[in-house]
Amino acid sequence: MPELPEVETVKQALIPVLENRRVFSVFVGRKNLRWPLPENLAKRLTNKVFTHLTRRGKYVLMHLDSGEVLLLHLGMSGSVRIYQHKPELGQHDHFMLEMAPQIGSGSRSYMVLNDPRRFGWIDLFAESAILGHKLLVGMGPEPLGNKFSAALLEAAFKGRSAPVKNALLNQALIAGIGNIYANEALFLSGISPRRKAGTITGGRADRLATAIVTTLRAAIEDGGTSLRDHVQPGGEIGYFVQRLAVYGQAGKPCPKCSSLIKTIVQSGRSSFYCSRCQR
Ligand SMILES: [Zn+2]
Repeated sequence: MPELPEVETVKQALIPVLENRRVFSVFVGRKNLRWPLPENLAKRLTNKVFTHLTRRGKYVLMHLDSGEVLLLHLGMSGSVRIYQHKPELGQHDHFMLEMAPQIGSGSRSYMVLNDPRRFGWIDLFAESAILGHKLLVGMGPEPLGNKFSAALLEAAFKGRSAPVKNALLNQALIAGIGNIYANEALFLSGISPRRKAGTITGGRADRLATAIVTTLRAAIEDGGTSLRDHVQPGGEIGYFVQRLAVYGQAGKPCPKCSSLIKTIVQSGRSSFYCSRCQR
């Protein structure tokens, strides 16, 4: 499931395709994904220009010169492909933007959204409605934002008896982190996934805040450098999960101490950790 680094990689890959370019045509293959798609989606996008792209948590926000924002939610299985020629669409390709060429370049560009399980979504709404949008309202701070700090993390977790692993997945407390990077950040900070969130204070909060930023930045860097322009020959945007220390590594040696990595289930999600290094 795409987490903050993968969504950031998608956003960065889409910038040259969408920013300052006009929508030539739109294909909408279904009336709904996870939820119904907006009314008149194709008509409202056609001939509009994307002014800039941003990201909030796990969502890409594509701002248009019409004053509206196109929100892309990749859900569990959503992926985006990019082409310089018109592609054949498959069964699970639900949405396509055909972008007019940039001035001075002859080629149109195509962005295709594929989502076999259809847990993803596309929405289109007024820019002024961003803060109240149902997916964005009440979302916690951006871990890669300027305001993020150990003090902010400590305040978000204060008084919480839930395990810190669950708190990291709670988008109302901190945005964008999913199961993979929650496990990795806890390992890097030497904190047990079972520890109560409310006990993450002082030095522990410092270590965890630093580990979150380090883990997410490393993953974005991998996504950004592993493939030129992020785009593979088949149009897929290349995000790879690399350099994982504990996630999915149950029974393998801990990279720090060589004890075997353990796994437990917390709120239905697998946690991977080293019981010697993480307390
Ligand atoms: Zn260890």
